[in-house]
Amino acid sequence: MSGAGARTFPLVLSAPSGAGTTTLARALRDRRPDVVFSVSATTRLPRPGERDGVDYHFVSPAEFIRMRDAGELIEWAEVHGNYYGTPIANVDRAVERGEFLLLDIDVQGAEQIRGRVPGAVRVFVLPPSGEVLVQRLVGRASEEDAAVRRRLSNARDELRAAGHFDHVVVNDDLDAAVADLEALLDGRPRDVRPGPPLEDAVRTLTAEIERHITPAAQAGDHR
Ligand code: ADP
Ligand code: 5GP
Repeated sequence: MSGAGARTFPLVLSAPSGAGTTTLARALRDRRPDVVFSVSATTRLPRPGERDGVDYHFVSPAEFIRMRDAGELIEWAEVHGNYYGTPIANVDRAVERGEFLLLDIDVQGAEQIRGRVPGAVRVFVLPPSGEVLVQRLVGRASEEDAAVRRRLSNARDELRAAGHFDHVVVNDDLDAAVADLEALLDGRPRDVRPGPPLEDAVRTLTAEIERHITPAAQAGDHR
Protein backbone atom coordinates (compact mmCIF):
# COMPACT_ATOMS: atom_id res chain seq x y z
CA MET A 1 0.00 0.00 0.00
CA SER A 2 1.42 3.44 -0.79
CA GLY A 3 1.38 6.16 1.85
CA ALA A 4 0.64 9.85 1.72
CA GLY A 5 4.20 11.06 2.33
CA ALA A 6 6.54 11.58 -0.62
CA ARG A 7 9.71 10.10 0.82
CA THR A 8 9.46 9.11 4.43
CA PHE A 9 11.72 6.71 6.31
CA PRO A 10 12.30 5.46 9.84
CA LEU A 11 14.56 7.85 11.79
CA VAL A 12 16.52 6.16 14.55
CA LEU A 13 17.89 8.23 17.44
CA SER A 14 20.46 6.69 19.77
CA ALA A 15 22.56 8.30 22.47
CA PRO A 16 24.08 7.78 25.87
CA SER A 17 21.27 7.97 28.42
CA GLY A 18 20.60 11.59 29.43
CA ALA A 19 21.80 13.12 26.15
CA GLY A 20 18.21 14.12 25.43
CA THR A 21 16.66 11.80 22.86
CA THR A 22 13.28 11.74 24.66
CA THR A 23 13.20 15.53 24.73
CA LEU A 24 14.31 15.78 21.09
CA ALA A 25 11.78 13.20 19.96
CA ARG A 26 8.93 15.07 21.69
CA ALA A 27 10.02 18.41 20.24
CA LEU A 28 10.36 17.01 16.72
CA ARG A 29 6.94 15.34 16.91
CA ASP A 30 5.37 18.57 18.13
CA ARG A 31 6.73 20.41 15.11
CA ARG A 32 6.07 17.81 12.46
CA PRO A 33 2.67 16.21 11.86
CA ASP A 34 4.34 13.68 9.54
CA VAL A 35 6.45 12.27 12.42
CA VAL A 36 5.10 9.53 14.69
CA PHE A 37 6.88 8.19 17.73
CA SER A 38 7.59 4.46 17.87
CA VAL A 39 6.18 3.30 21.21
CA SER A 40 8.48 0.54 22.47
CA ALA A 41 7.71 -2.28 24.84
CA THR A 42 9.74 -2.24 28.05
CA THR A 43 9.99 -4.09 31.34
CA ARG A 44 11.17 -0.88 33.07
CA LEU A 45 8.76 0.71 35.55
CA PRO A 46 7.08 3.96 34.48
CA ARG A 47 8.67 7.23 35.61
CA PRO A 48 6.37 9.87 37.08
CA GLY A 49 4.28 11.33 34.28
CA GLU A 50 4.91 8.50 31.82
CA ARG A 51 1.80 6.94 30.32
CA ASP A 52 1.29 3.34 29.23
CA GLY A 53 0.77 3.10 25.48
CA VAL A 54 2.03 6.66 24.95
CA ASP A 55 5.60 6.73 26.24
CA TYR A 56 6.08 2.96 26.36
CA HIS A 57 4.06 -0.21 26.51
CA PHE A 58 4.98 -1.16 30.07
CA VAL A 59 4.94 -4.95 30.19
CA SER A 60 6.03 -7.71 32.56
CA PRO A 61 9.19 -9.69 31.79
CA ALA A 62 6.98 -12.70 30.92
CA GLU A 63 4.92 -10.66 28.44
CA PHE A 64 8.09 -9.20 26.90
CA ILE A 65 9.53 -12.67 26.37
CA ARG A 66 6.24 -13.81 24.84
CA MET A 67 6.30 -10.89 22.37
CA ARG A 68 9.93 -11.54 21.51
CA ASP A 69 9.45 -15.26 21.01
CA ALA A 70 6.30 -14.70 18.93
CA GLY A 71 8.40 -12.57 16.54
CA GLU A 72 6.46 -9.39 17.33
CA LEU A 73 9.61 -7.28 17.86
CA ILE A 74 11.80 -6.08 15.01
CA GLU A 75 14.66 -5.50 17.44
CA TRP A 76 15.16 -5.81 21.14
CA ALA A 77 17.92 -5.38 23.71
CA GLU A 78 18.66 -5.47 27.39
CA VAL A 79 19.57 -1.93 28.46
CA HIS A 80 20.52 -0.85 31.98
CA GLY A 81 19.06 -4.11 33.35
CA ASN A 82 15.67 -3.91 31.59
CA TYR A 83 14.33 -5.25 28.29
CA TYR A 84 13.28 -2.89 25.51
CA GLY A 85 11.97 -3.71 22.05
CA THR A 86 10.27 -2.21 18.98
CA PRO A 87 7.01 -3.81 17.81
CA ILE A 88 7.16 -4.63 14.09
CA ALA A 89 3.61 -3.26 13.88
CA ASN A 90 5.00 0.27 14.49
CA VAL A 91 7.15 0.06 11.36
CA ASP A 92 4.39 -1.48 9.20
CA ARG A 93 1.85 1.14 10.26
CA ALA A 94 4.19 4.07 9.54
CA VAL A 95 5.06 2.70 6.09
CA GLU A 96 1.37 2.24 5.30
CA ARG A 97 0.55 5.78 6.37
CA GLY A 98 3.60 7.40 4.76
CA GLU A 99 4.89 8.76 8.06
CA PHE A 100 8.37 9.21 9.47
CA LEU A 101 8.70 6.71 12.31
CA LEU A 102 10.90 8.09 15.09
CA LEU A 103 12.67 5.35 17.02
CA ASP A 104 14.41 6.28 20.27
CA ILE A 105 16.41 3.10 20.84
CA ASP A 106 19.81 2.10 22.15
CA VAL A 107 22.91 1.41 20.06
CA GLN A 108 22.35 -2.39 20.06
CA GLY A 109 18.85 -1.86 18.67
CA ALA A 110 20.12 0.64 16.08
CA GLU A 111 22.58 -1.97 14.84
CA GLN A 112 19.78 -4.54 14.42
CA ILE A 113 17.62 -1.98 12.58
CA ARG A 114 20.45 -1.41 10.10
CA GLY A 115 20.14 -4.96 8.80
CA ARG A 116 16.36 -5.25 9.05
CA VAL A 117 14.76 -1.96 8.03
CA PRO A 118 15.90 -0.81 4.60
CA GLY A 119 16.05 2.97 4.26
CA ALA A 120 16.24 3.66 7.99
CA VAL A 121 18.43 6.68 8.81
CA ARG A 122 20.38 6.35 12.05
CA VAL A 123 21.42 9.38 14.07
CA PHE A 124 23.72 9.41 17.08
CA VAL A 125 22.93 12.23 19.50
CA LEU A 126 25.87 13.64 21.47
CA PRO A 127 25.62 15.75 24.61
CA PRO A 128 27.68 18.95 24.37
CA SER A 129 30.01 17.74 27.15
CA GLY A 130 30.42 15.08 29.82
CA GLU A 131 29.60 17.68 32.47
CA VAL A 132 26.30 18.48 30.80
CA LEU A 133 25.48 14.79 30.43
CA VAL A 134 25.99 14.27 34.17
CA GLN A 135 23.94 17.38 34.99
CA ARG A 136 21.08 16.20 32.77
CA LEU A 137 21.06 12.71 34.23
CA VAL A 138 21.17 13.98 37.80
CA GLY A 139 18.79 16.87 37.05
CA ARG A 140 16.17 14.51 35.64
CA ALA A 141 16.07 12.97 39.13
CA SER A 142 14.36 9.84 37.85
CA GLU A 143 17.00 7.41 39.06
CA GLU A 144 18.85 6.55 42.23
CA ASP A 145 22.58 7.36 42.42
CA ALA A 146 23.50 3.78 41.58
CA ALA A 147 21.35 3.85 38.46
CA VAL A 148 22.90 7.16 37.37
CA ARG A 149 26.37 5.65 37.77
CA ARG A 150 25.30 2.59 35.79
CA ARG A 151 23.95 4.81 33.01
CA LEU A 152 27.21 6.82 32.96
CA SER A 153 29.27 3.67 32.88
CA ASN A 154 27.18 2.39 29.95
CA ALA A 155 27.61 5.78 28.25
CA ARG A 156 31.31 5.08 27.79
CA ASP A 157 30.52 1.94 25.81
CA GLU A 158 27.67 3.52 23.88
CA LEU A 159 29.90 6.41 22.77
CA ARG A 160 32.18 3.94 21.01
CA ALA A 161 29.35 3.20 18.58
CA ALA A 162 28.96 6.84 17.46
CA GLY A 163 31.14 6.36 14.36
CA HIS A 164 28.88 3.59 13.02
CA PHE A 165 25.89 5.91 12.60
CA ASP A 166 24.84 7.75 9.45
CA HIS A 167 24.74 11.17 11.14
CA VAL A 168 25.65 12.85 14.39
CA VAL A 169 23.66 15.66 16.02
CA VAL A 170 24.88 17.56 19.09
CA ASN A 171 22.06 18.31 21.54
CA ASP A 172 23.32 21.59 23.01
CA ASP A 173 20.66 24.15 22.15
CA LEU A 174 17.42 22.18 21.82
CA ASP A 175 15.96 24.26 18.99
CA ALA A 176 19.15 23.98 16.96
CA ALA A 177 19.28 20.19 17.47
CA VAL A 178 15.64 19.82 16.42
CA ALA A 179 16.35 21.96 13.35
CA ASP A 180 19.23 19.60 12.49
CA LEU A 181 16.83 16.65 12.67
CA GLU A 182 14.24 18.45 10.56
CA ALA A 183 16.92 19.16 7.97
CA LEU A 184 17.61 15.42 7.83
CA LEU A 185 13.93 14.65 7.28
CA ASP A 186 13.90 17.17 4.47
CA GLY A 187 16.93 15.56 2.85
CA ARG A 188 19.42 18.37 3.53
CA PRO A 189 21.68 17.15 6.36
CA ARG A 190 23.97 19.73 7.92
CA ASP A 191 25.39 17.80 10.84
CA VAL A 192 28.75 16.55 12.02
CA ARG A 193 29.72 13.52 9.95
CA PRO A 194 31.52 10.53 11.42
CA GLY A 195 35.30 11.11 11.10
CA PRO A 196 38.24 12.61 13.00
CA PRO A 197 36.41 15.59 14.59
CA LEU A 198 33.80 13.16 15.90
CA GLU A 199 36.49 10.84 17.23
CA ASP A 200 38.05 13.79 19.11
CA ALA A 201 34.69 14.80 20.56
CA VAL A 202 33.99 11.23 21.66
CA ARG A 203 37.44 10.93 23.27
CA THR A 204 36.92 14.15 25.25
CA LEU A 205 33.43 13.13 26.33
CA THR A 206 34.60 9.70 27.42
CA ALA A 207 37.39 11.22 29.55
CA GLU A 208 34.93 13.64 31.19
CA ILE A 209 32.53 10.81 31.99
CA GLU A 210 35.40 8.69 33.33
CA ARG A 211 36.20 11.46 35.83
CA HIS A 212 32.65 11.33 37.20
CA ILE A 213 32.59 7.58 37.54
CA THR A 214 35.92 7.37 39.37
CA PRO A 215 36.34 10.73 41.19
CA ALA A 216 38.39 9.17 44.03
CA ALA A 217 40.90 7.63 41.65
CA GLN A 218 41.19 10.92 39.84
CA ALA A 219 41.75 12.96 43.02
CA GLY A 220 44.69 10.76 44.00
CA ASP A 221 46.05 10.42 40.50
CA HIS A 222 48.73 13.00 39.55
CA ARG A 223 50.13 11.36 36.43
P1 ADP B 1 17.34 10.66 27.29
O1 ADP B 1 15.97 10.34 26.78
O2 ADP B 1 18.36 10.74 26.19
O3 ADP B 1 17.80 9.77 28.39
P2 ADP B 1 16.05 13.10 28.27
O4 ADP B 1 15.39 13.58 27.03
O5 ADP B 1 15.22 12.51 29.36
O6 ADP B 1 17.29 12.12 27.92
O7 ADP B 1 16.87 14.37 28.85
C1 ADP B 1 17.61 14.29 30.06
C2 ADP B 1 17.43 15.64 30.79
O8 ADP B 1 18.08 16.66 30.04
C3 ADP B 1 15.97 16.05 30.96
O9 ADP B 1 15.81 16.64 32.23
C4 ADP B 1 15.77 17.09 29.84
O10 ADP B 1 14.81 18.05 30.19
C5 ADP B 1 17.16 17.71 29.72
N1 ADP B 1 17.49 18.16 28.35
C6 ADP B 1 17.37 17.45 27.20
N2 ADP B 1 17.78 18.18 26.13
C7 ADP B 1 18.18 19.37 26.61
C8 ADP B 1 18.73 20.57 26.00
N3 ADP B 1 18.97 20.67 24.69
N4 ADP B 1 19.03 21.60 26.81
C9 ADP B 1 18.83 21.50 28.16
N5 ADP B 1 18.32 20.42 28.79
C10 ADP B 1 18.00 19.36 28.03
P1 5GP C 1 14.89 5.00 29.22
O1 5GP C 1 14.78 3.94 30.29
O2 5GP C 1 15.78 6.15 29.68
O3 5GP C 1 13.57 5.47 28.69
O4 5GP C 1 15.65 4.34 28.01
C1 5GP C 1 16.86 3.66 28.22
C2 5GP C 1 17.48 3.27 26.90
O5 5GP C 1 16.65 2.31 26.22
C3 5GP C 1 17.64 4.45 25.94
O6 5GP C 1 18.92 4.33 25.34
C4 5GP C 1 16.55 4.21 24.93
O7 5GP C 1 16.90 4.74 23.67
C5 5GP C 1 16.54 2.69 24.88
N1 5GP C 1 15.31 2.14 24.29
C6 5GP C 1 14.03 2.59 24.42
N2 5GP C 1 13.20 1.84 23.70
C7 5GP C 1 13.96 0.90 23.08
C8 5GP C 1 13.67 -0.16 22.16
O8 5GP C 1 12.54 -0.41 21.76
N3 5GP C 1 14.72 -0.92 21.75
C9 5GP C 1 16.00 -0.70 22.17
N4 5GP C 1 16.96 -1.49 21.68
N5 5GP C 1 16.30 0.29 23.02
C10 5GP C 1 15.29 1.08 23.47
